[in-house]
Amino acid sequence: KKIIIAIDGFSSTGKSTVAKLLAKSLNYIYVDTGAMYRAVTYFALENDLIGDGFFKEEALIDRLEDISINFKFNKEAGFAEVYLNGNNIEADIRTLRVSKFVSPVATLSEVRRKLVEQQQLMGRGKGIVMDGRDIGTVVFPDAELKIFMTASAETRAKRRYKELIDRGHKLSYEDVLENVTTRDHIDSTREDSPLVKAEDAIEIDNSDLTIEAQLETIIGMAQK
Ligand code: C5P
Repeated sequence: KKIIIAIDGFSSTGKSTVAKLLAKSLNYIYVDTGAMYRAVTYFALENDLIGDGFFKEEALIDRLEDISINFKFNKEAGFAEVYLNGNNIEADIRTLRVSKFVSPVATLSEVRRKLVEQQQLMGRGKGIVMDGRDIGTVVFPDAELKIFMTASAETRAKRRYKELIDRGHKLSYEDVLENVTTRDHIDSTREDSPLVKAEDAIEIDNSDLTIEAQLETIIGMAQK
């Protein structure tokens, strides 16, 4: 039986790495919901609706209908890349600039409502692995398997730093640590759908776990 696997947790806990591999080995669809919030943020930045010291919330809400997000599988990459109004923005949304503004954008209920609706449509009746912050609590409260990933803040910032440096970005470890900490704070204290562990989620602290070990554990749970 194909099930819904919800993976939630703080920033850079390695959710997407595990989720992608999990989907691959179970032959499920993988949906990165963070990419959708990043896409809206990228749109806001491109249209001067958010930036250093300003956020035109109402203007962004008014323009939500102009935002169309979809995913297309890239065979070479081995996962689905995100498109905004027909343009591939996969690389553009992984910058520290987008990371800096995404959490404020994700506090808006109108943004959340739009994206949650789309996420629910993508998952119904299919084998799906979805990662984010509110998948087990809001998007699929009835998901058959819910994982809540954790890792120490330092482990997380180190991972994210390495990832960004490997992609050729120039930034400091301190900037990354600051971004991860700030996002976690905004995500867990916002009014609408704050980041919390679902009551029935299984917590996995992967600070000292290999990716293989995490995969094995979760696949074992999925097959029960
Ligand atoms: O997963 P990722 O780190 O790319 O997510 C970026 C941001 O998008 C998060 O810090 C959070 O503010 C927001 N987000 C959210 N709900 C989700 C997924 C992401 O609020 N389901």
